[in-house]
Amino acid sequence: MKYRKVDVVIIGAGPAGATASALLNNLGYQVTVIEKQRFPRFSIGESLLPQCMSFLAEAGLLSALDDVADELAFQYKNGAAFYKNGLTSEFDFRKKFSPGPGETYQVKRGDFDHTLIQTAQQAGVEVLFEHQVEDVDVSAQEPLITISDKHQNRETIQCRFVLDASGFARILPRLLELEKPSSFPIRHSYFTHIEDNIRCEQFDRNKILITVHPSSDDIWLWLIPFADGTASIGVVGKAEQFPADLNNREVLQHFVATVPNLQTLLDKAEWPNDVNRIAGYSADVKQLSGSNFALLGNAGEFLDPVFSSGVTIAMCSASLIAPVLDDYLQGKDADFVERFEKPLRQGVDCFKAFVSAWYRGDFQDVIFYQQQDPQVKSMISSILAGYAWDTNNPYVAHSERRLNVLVELCREQ
Ligand code: FAD
Repeated sequence: MKYRKVDVVIIGAGPAGATASALLNNLGYQVTVIEKQRFPRFSIGESLLPQCMSFLAEAGLLSALDDVADELAFQYKNGAAFYKNGLTSEFDFRKKFSPGPGETYQVKRGDFDHTLIQTAQQAGVEVLFEHQVEDVDVSAQEPLITISDKHQNRETIQCRFVLDASGFARILPRLLELEKPSSFPIRHSYFTHIEDNIRCEQFDRNKILITVHPSSDDIWLWLIPFADGTASIGVVGKAEQFPADLNNREVLQHFVATVPNLQTLLDKAEWPNDVNRIAGYSADVKQLSGSNFALLGNAGEFLDPVFSSGVTIAMCSASLIAPVLDDYLQGKDADFVERFEKPLRQGVDCFKAFVSAWYRGDFQDVIFYQQQDPQVKSMISSILAGYAWDTNNPYVAHSERRLNVLVELCREQ
């Protein structure tokens, strides 16, 4: 069995792993990323938030993305549009309260993730594709990672620190019994890519469209256009809200047909691809770090798809871990709870307040309120654009309290 030693092992080459690997490589560390799959591979989570762009720039990954954006049909995105029972509402991210980028992309994640990790690789990160992490031993000061390749050849890598960016596989939470149920119920999602053939001139391809089901506030559909005439479409709801006797394709097409705006928009759409289903994705953990490990992105807490916060949170976790891990690896004082867990959780908790309010229907009343004060709207736009860590925004600093007051105000009018 082979054996070697590096500074940091990262499990998973998704957005969290790729961003963390680039940041640590830029700081001069020897980083090995272990990735089970061969890239490009399909992944769900295609609508980015503008806050991502600052994390990508910080990691030195943004210009590589801009260079391939046209070729890979990345769709320019500047906001979010919402539709419910004849009411529409739009949030323009360029008019947001927080400083930072107001524009981003909607991306086919296979290509996007591939570009990120390839760029990190070209900068010096070692990436072992088609290698699976089988075991992690964090009991010694220096963790031991056992991996296997597709021929079942095993190897052990010793490192000074391990970052789990394994997404929904949640390697370390499972191995170390760190898993904790999410505060959100189990929801299901059915999704696919279509040739959208949208001809409606009013349709804005530069925004994600979120449509609320006409009779069930907690069922919603996304439409995420790409630049090549295709789009991602999906529906989210609880298991009991989906007819059990229909197959995946029938379920999704049934829900598209029951919302008039989508039915009209997509009346010429072609459905060449399989419809996939994912269930029970919301998850939490008891702790996000230990003496020689930390959990990034979905391997930590995952909330819900509704405000497209997943990739932003994944990249924020990478951005927060890099400087404190740098201090740790240099033997300096490194408080992972104060400098990584608490700040990361603060932004996640802000998103959580908005996601909870969405499913209660409260935040939908705010979104569809037609006379919104422009200053308030810019603060809400900021959060929808991913700036959930900007505590200068009162809706970030006191999310629940401010939201509750706003909901009352919108309902009184
Ligand atoms: P991932 O992207 O999942 O990457 C994890 C990697 O780890 C994978 O490549 C996997 O192959 C690898 N891996 C797993 N196990 C092993 C192992 N044993 N050994 C080696 N490698 C391993 N987010 C958004 O920002 N916008 C959206 O529009 C959006 N829509 C969503 C819709 C749905 C229905 C769902 C469920 C989620 C959505 N998300 C969205 C969330 C988004 O998909 C995730 O938050 C994001 O992909 C997390 O990135 P990550 O790097 O943590 O994990």
